[in-house]
Amino acid sequence: MASPPSGPRLMLRRMREIMAETSDKQVRLDRVVVLIANNMVAEVCSVYVVRLGGLELYATEGLKRHAVHLTRLRVGEGLVGRIAAESKPLNLPEAKTHPDFAFRPETGEEVYHSFLGVPIIHGGRTIGVLVVQNRTKRLYTEEEIEALETIAMVLAEIISPETVENGAADEREVRARGGGHHWEGVPIVTGVGFGQVVLHEPRVMVTNLIADNVETETERLDAALGELRFSIDRMLERADMVQVGEHREVIEAYRMFAHDRGWVRRMREAVKTGLTAEAAVERVMNETRARLRGSSDAYIKDRLHDLDDLANRLLRHLVGEDTGAEGGELPVDAIVFARNIGPAELLDYSQKQLHGLVLEDGALTGHAAIVARALGVPFVGRVENILDYVQEGDPVIVDGETGEIHVRPSPEAVAELKLKADELAQRAATYDRLRDVAAVTRDGLQVEQLINAGLLVDLPHLDRSGAQGVGLFRTELQFMVASRLPRLSKQRELYHAVLEAAGTKPVVFRALDIGGDKFLPYMRMEREENPALGWRTIRMAAERPAILKVQLRAFLMAAAGRTLKVMIPFIAEVREFEQARDILNQEMAFLKKHGHQLPEAVKIGALIEVPSILWQLDALLPQADFVSIGSNDLYQYLFAVDRTHPKLAQRYDELSPSMLNTLRHIVLKCDEYGVPLTVCGEMAGMPLEAMALIGLGFTSISMAPNAVGPVKAMILKLDAANLQEYLLPLLDSSRHSLRAPLQEYARAHDVPV
Ligand code: PEP
Ligand code: MG
Repeated sequence: MASPPSGPRLMLRRMREIMAETSDKQVRLDRVVVLIANNMVAEVCSVYVVRLGGLELYATEGLKRHAVHLTRLRVGEGLVGRIAAESKPLNLPEAKTHPDFAFRPETGEEVYHSFLGVPIIHGGRTIGVLVVQNRTKRLYTEEEIEALETIAMVLAEIISPETVENGAADEREVRARGGGHHWEGVPIVTGVGFGQVVLHEPRVMVTNLIADNVETETERLDAALGELRFSIDRMLERADMVQVGEHREVIEAYRMFAHDRGWVRRMREAVKTGLTAEAAVERVMNETRARLRGSSDAYIKDRLHDLDDLANRLLRHLVGEDTGAEGGELPVDAIVFARNIGPAELLDYSQKQLHGLVLEDGALTGHAAIVARALGVPFVGRVENILDYVQEGDPVIVDGETGEIHVRPSPEAVAELKLKADELAQRAATYDRLRDVAAVTRDGLQVEQLINAGLLVDLPHLDRSGAQGVGLFRTELQFMVASRLPRLSKQRELYHAVLEAAGTKPVVFRALDIGGDKFLPYMRMEREENPALGWRTIRMAAERPAILKVQLRAFLMAAAGRTLKVMIPFIAEVREFEQARDILNQEMAFLKKHGHQLPEAVKIGALIEVPSILWQLDALLPQADFVSIGSNDLYQYLFAVDRTHPKLAQRYDELSPSMLNTLRHIVLKCDEYGVPLTVCGEMAGMPLEAMALIGLGFTSISMAPNAVGPVKAMILKLDAANLQEYLLPLLDSSRHSLRAPLQEYARAHDVPV
C-alpha cells in the first residue's frame, strides 16, 4: 500500500513536475527555490553553482534578485565556500558570528540569522551549494538537514549539465592542483597517451531519483541487499578464494559492510525521504565520501574505496547491470582508470584500444607496471582520489614521462602534448634506425644487449629492438595472471612458444620468483611481517619442491633439441644453487628414462641479488654456467632499503661507491673463473647507469626493450677504456654517489645519457 506523501516527498513530486514543465534551466531553478523555501518554512532559499573558478549565486528566493549571477565567492571563502570545500553541511543559529562569514552587501542577507547549507554533489563532485536561511535564531533539526540533502541530490540533476557545459570544476581539485584539470602522480611507464576515460569499474549513473512509493522502494532496496550478500558469499566460497590472502580480506570486508546496520539504516531513511532505492544508495555514499575523504589515514582510505565498490555493486543489482568491466563497448582510445588492476585484467583489454593507464595505487615494480611496459602503454600511478573527479568519456591525456594527467585538457595543453608525443615518436624512430647497428664502443668493445621479458607479447620486441637475446624471462608473470597454478602442459606451451618466437636468439628463463611483493592469490602463503625477507622464491623449494620440479621439467621439454638456459633466483648460499641443480639433473634423468628428447645443451646460472652470496663466489662460480646480477634486489638488500618505499627512493644511489665496488668485485671474480656475467636489474636500462656498468667492465646487459635504443646510442659514443681509467680510481671516494662525476664525464665526452 502506498504511504501518504509526507513533507519532503510531496515536495520531491512537485520538483519532478517543475523539471518536466520547462526546458529553461533558469526558470526551473527560480521556481524550485520558491518551492523549497515554502516547504521548509524558510525566508531564504538560494542555490550557488561552482562555475568558472568560483561559486556563483544562481537562483534565490528571499535574497535581493539583482545579486543573482553577480554574487561570487571563491571555494573556501565564506560559509558557502566552506561547504563546497569540505562537502559537508553547515548548520548555524547565528551565521554572522561564524569566523568564515563573508558579508556580501548586495544580497541583503544581514537580516537573517540562522543558516543551513548543504553541498550539491554529482558523480562524487561538489557542483554547488543549497542554502536556506531564517530571521529567527535557531538550529535546524536533523530531519530538516536530511530533507535538504535529499532535495540537493535532485537539484544536482538540474544543475549538472549546466556546469559541465561551462567547463566548471570541483574547485577543491583546482585549488589543490594550482589551476586547470591537472593532476600529478608517479610516472611508471613512459609515453604520451591521448584518449577518453574508461572506468575499469564503471560507476552506475542513477537517473531515476524520485520515488512513487516508499514501500516498493524499501522492498527493492532489501531485495538488492539480499542479492548483494548472496553474491559476496558466493565469491568467498569460490574455489580459488579459499586460501588466505589479500583478495579474501577485501571480500571479507565487503561482507562485513554489507551487513552493517548503520549503512543499511541510513539508506532506508533516505528512501523514506522520498528517494528511489538507487538514489538512496548514492546519497549515503556521497555523505560517507564527504565525511571520510579528508582523512589521511591509509586504512580509512582503503575502507572508503571498499565501501565505494560495494555501493556500486549494490547499484548494479538495483538497476540490473552486469558486474565488472565486460559490459559496454570499449572506445578505440581508452585510457583506463582504476584504483588498482591485476595483470590479467589489464591483458583483457584490447591492446589496440588501450592508450593509457591511470591508477590510484600502483608502483614501479608492481605487476601492472610490468604488463603495461610490455604493452607499451603509458602508465601513471599513485594519483590520489582521481576516481572521484573523472567521469566515463572525459577527454584525457596521460603523460607517462612526467606523471601528469590532463583531464578535459585545454586546446593549449593538447597542442603542447601533441608536440611532445611527436618528439618522442621522432626519438623512437632515431633508435629504430640503430636497430641493425652493432653495439660497439668507439674503442671497439662489443657490448651484448639483451631484453627482459615475461609475457609472450614481449617477444616481438626482440626483433624490433635489435637486441641479441632475452637476458631475463620472468616466468612468474604466467603464474600471476592465472587463477590457478599453471599445469605442466601450460608452462611447457608458453616456454616453447617463447623459444620459437626468439628463433636463434638465446633466452634465459628464470625459475619462479614469487613471494615478497609477487603474490599468487590461489596459493596458501602466510602473512609475513617482512615479506621481502621472508619465505620467498627459491626458499620455498625445500618445502614445496613440486612447483620447481614441474617447472624445470616444463623447461626441459620445451627446449627439446635446443639450448636451455635456466637461472635460479635469490641464491643466498651455494647449497640452494646445488639443490636446484640436483632437481634439474633428476628431471633430466626422468625424461631420458621415459624416452623424451632432451635439450641439446643445458646451462644453469645463478641470479646474484642477495649480498651473502658475494662472499661465497669462490664456491659458486666453478659450478655456475653463467651468472646475472639482479641489481634491483641487490641494491635493496645492500642498503637495507625497501625498493618501493617512496620516502627512501632518493636516499641512496645505485651509483654510490659501495654499490659500484660490489659490482666491480663480481666482475673481477667472474673474470677469474671465466664465467659469463650479465646485469638484468633496471639500472642496466638507464644510459648513465649502463655507462657506469661498462666502465666497471661489464660487456653484457639486459634491459626493458624500449631502453635498447637509448643505451645503444650511449655505447656508440663511448670510449670504454678511457671511462674505466676515469672511474676506477673514483671507487675509493668517500662521496655519497658518483652520479655527478659520471654525468660530467658524459658531458665532456659528448656521450648521450
Ligand atoms: C632484480 O632483482 O634486479 C631482478 C632482476 O629481479 P626482479 O626485479 O624481478 O626482482
Ligand atoms: Mg630480484
